[in-house]
Amino acid sequence: MSAARMLTGDRPTGRLHLGHYVGSIANRVQLHQRYESFFIIADLHMLTTKNTREDIEQVAGNAREMVTDILAAGVDPDRATFYLQSAIPEVGDLNTLLQNLITVPRLERVPSLKEMARDAGKEEMPYGLLGYPVLQAADILCVKGQVVPVGRDNAAHVEVTREIARRFNHLYGEVFPVPELIMSETPALVGTDGQGKMSKSKGNAIGLADDPVTVRRKVMGMYTDPNRVRADVPGTVGGNPVFAYHDVFNPDRAKVEELKARYRAGRVGDVEVKEELATALNRFLDPIRERRARFEADRGRVDELIVEGTERTRAEVHRTLVEVRRAMGLTSAYTQVRRRAERYRKAVATPA
Ligand code: ATP
Ligand code: MG
Repeated sequence: MSAARMLTGDRPTGRLHLGHYVGSIANRVQLHQRYESFFIIADLHMLTTKNTREDIEQVAGNAREMVTDILAAGVDPDRATFYLQSAIPEVGDLNTLLQNLITVPRLERVPSLKEMARDAGKEEMPYGLLGYPVLQAADILCVKGQVVPVGRDNAAHVEVTREIARRFNHLYGEVFPVPELIMSETPALVGTDGQGKMSKSKGNAIGLADDPVTVRRKVMGMYTDPNRVRADVPGTVGGNPVFAYHDVFNPDRAKVEELKARYRAGRVGDVEVKEELATALNRFLDPIRERRARFEADRGRVDELIVEGTERTRAEVHRTLVEVRRAMGLTSAYTQVRRRAERYRKAVATPA
């Protein structure tokens, strides 16, 4: 039996950072070993909040950077299919058909959409953004995805996919697997400013592609315990982003515990704690940088991977859509009209 299919991906809005790594990439690096993996570059989803000409002009560049980051993080290009969503118009066709299987009030209850609208500075909900989870259902179902790894903010979206798949199968016959969620319980990684989650647009992110000097500079500028004016003042470890990063990225547990103890006792300066963190982060990022350098030296290969993946996926989606239209009776509707038209043509061509 072939491996179950996994669908995962991101909007091509920029390079990936440590927050993405913790929130999803690390998990995918593991999962793609086990599943047949599709990685969507979700530019149609990007359009739900970013749709200026300038935003769209960034897609080609961001797609390549994002795929390079994912490969650098450890995804094996031989085990993953990367594809550009907008290059497969059949995804939009399926989206149109699935829209009728869910109600507006149901979508209005998806909490993350309101947050996304607010973050994007929209006073009112764009129609496309309300349909974000339906488009996601089209992505998952068009390749008959069976497993979908999700972070907390995305679980409610995939619930919509499950409902739509069940509803479709009930109305028209079994076409879609009802996909399973693989929940990641990892809490969001805080930004270097300690003011909320790491986000590229908030300028509080450390990129997977940042060089060692940049990483060190960002770490030295990190927010710590604001009450600690001198190294001999006892500090707070909880909620301190420097220690949050040590917990996630420094494999030397004994060292981290020792630093925490000395910090609480007022026996270590912020500079030393940050120096240790910069070293740990750079060690963590070194193998990612090495792989990135290899892919950067062969950039055409990354583009080629995206094109091959898009073509492979498009063929897959086409097959699904034929099956969907047939199950719904749409194929037969047009066949009937065509047959009648043929009969009519014959009748007018051969007068009685
Ligand atoms: P923007 O600033 O444009 O919102 P971002 O850096 O916050 O960008 P998104 O595109 O919003 O990135 O995030 C994509 C996905 O990555 C999220 O749905 C989430 O699963 C994950 N993610 C983003 N930031 C973090 C973070 N700090 N910690 C954990 N996961 C994150
Ligand atoms: Mg965000």
